[in-house]
Amino acid sequence: MSLLDGLGLGPRELRGMSRGTRERVDTGTRAIVVGGGLAGVAAACVLAERGVKVTLCEKEPHLGGRVSAWTERLPDGTPYQMERGFHAFFRQYYNLRNLLRRVDPRLERLRPLDDYPILGPDGLVESFKGLPRTPPLNLMALLRRTRFVTLADLRGVDVPAAQRMLRFDMSKTYATFDDTTAADYLASLRFPERGRQMLFDVFAHSFFNPEDEMSAAEMLMMFHFYFLGNPEGLVFDVLDEPFSDALWKPMERYLEGLGVELRLGQPVERVERLKNGSAWRAELVGAHVEGDALVLAVTVPALRALFGASDALRVDAELAGAIDALDVTRPFAVWRQYLDRAAEPSRAPFAGTAGMGLLDNVSLFERFEGESRRWSLRTGGSVVELHAYACPHADADAIRAELRAGLETLYPELAGARVIHESWLFSQDCPAFGPGTHARRPRVSTPYGNVVLAGDFVKLPFPTALMERATSAGMLAANHLLDRWDVRGEPLYSIPPRGFMASLPLGS
Ligand SMILES: Cc1cc2nc3c(=O)[nH]c(=O)nc-3n(C[C@H](O)[C@H](O)[C@H](O)COP(=O)(O)OP(=O)(O)OC[C@H]3O[C@@H](n4cnc5c(N)ncnc54)[C@H](O)[C@@H]3O)c2cc1C
Repeated sequence: MSLLDGLGLGPRELRGMSRGTRERVDTGTRAIVVGGGLAGVAAACVLAERGVKVTLCEKEPHLGGRVSAWTERLPDGTPYQMERGFHAFFRQYYNLRNLLRRVDPRLERLRPLDDYPILGPDGLVESFKGLPRTPPLNLMALLRRTRFVTLADLRGVDVPAAQRMLRFDMSKTYATFDDTTAADYLASLRFPERGRQMLFDVFAHSFFNPEDEMSAAEMLMMFHFYFLGNPEGLVFDVLDEPFSDALWKPMERYLEGLGVELRLGQPVERVERLKNGSAWRAELVGAHVEGDALVLAVTVPALRALFGASDALRVDAELAGAIDALDVTRPFAVWRQYLDRAAEPSRAPFAGTAGMGLLDNVSLFERFEGESRRWSLRTGGSVVELHAYACPHADADAIRAELRAGLETLYPELAGARVIHESWLFSQDCPAFGPGTHARRPRVSTPYGNVVLAGDFVKLPFPTALMERATSAGMLAANHLLDRWDVRGEPLYSIPPRGFMASLPLGS
């Protein structure tokens, strides 16, 4: 690949992601999808569109997994949609956007947030607004304008180490850096402390893994995916109504329209192979479903539990060992508060933070989401959400005190605001990407052929992350099954898979 290839704008269709030639499967072909998050829903969609009779089993009474929403009530009885937390829909999430287009063809429910400021102590702000979209012009412009790295600082930077970010290459980067921690790699850059905090730490933390427990290769992939190789810019979109109304209710209708049987609130406890062939049977509480293929699209703890309970999945010892070795990262907290007053009008709808202890970001929901805006207009209040990722402990009182102190430092006008209502989530179900875990990480395909894995923990052959990784894995899992039936799958897209300096010899 040439240097110019690395500068290509827009989505690239990936070759070899689907090999089938027919348009639809034979009548009666059935698949079971376990898990109704983005990965499971993406797989169910692609399979059902090709004529597969899909049964989707989801443990919770609603679709969405870590992007789900459900109804709670304010003290005056007003219902509202509580969510698993603010989510940013980046522009290079090409496969997720194609999934959303199934229910919102012009993506009208996405609205852009034109800046993504990073707030630090003492009023420090880093902005990504107005940067050129094309790598590496975006990086050059950021380094030229940032106050946190001077020319003198840049002279002290370890240039070959820093160039590794621009030389991202799926196989070489993982081979060289997977055993190193992200913390050690960042320290090797010799960036000044404040520059490192405002430009790197904030992103590293957004991947939910603490730097000293995360693979440097995985972090380099994220830097490439979100910034250095991303032709769409760092700004992102958000849904303009709660996830339930904007996404999951229309998606339920769409799936049902394709004939998908949704078994919501029905966890799969175990799977087994049918005695008279290669088909599979999933055991639910007091019921079972059968299919010619199985998509396992659950969280890491749930996948480990399913493998633990299902002898048929443990026949291949290598895969069983790889699943047992998967882990979750530290817990995260999402704290939604309905406050009796609003923040200053100049505040951004969403701001990341750096150097503010456990506080990772602050969202003002009434500034982008309809339901919260209507409540705010009625009451004059504000719907504030505070996130803490990779929490080092589970002391809820201490975490809340730190989050609230961070909010009041950054937005002093909210100091002392009365909390009319709050929702607190504390959970540990995001995947860990520890050093040295890449080689063993399971892929979408398994030795069983008609069993595939999907989720944001799966190893994929192109750079991708979080919601986009989950969706891409779901689509790729469906494509694997469709290949077996010689049926055309879903086209998959990516940013340029390699850094713009990846082809240059080291030392140049
Ligand atoms: C606080 C927070 C903020 C985030 N912000 C962002 C963001 O801004 N941008 C971004 O891209 N990503 C973000 N993410 C990450 C994103 O939410 C995930 O990457 C993505 O939703 C994962 O989707 P998934 O389908 O792989 O897993 P999940 O959504 O976890 O889906 C797995 C599903 O399996 C179900 N299940 C489990 N066990 C069983 C069983 N036995 N039987 C049947 N079903 C079962 C679960 O209930 C769940 O619905 C955020 C995550 C969190 C927690």
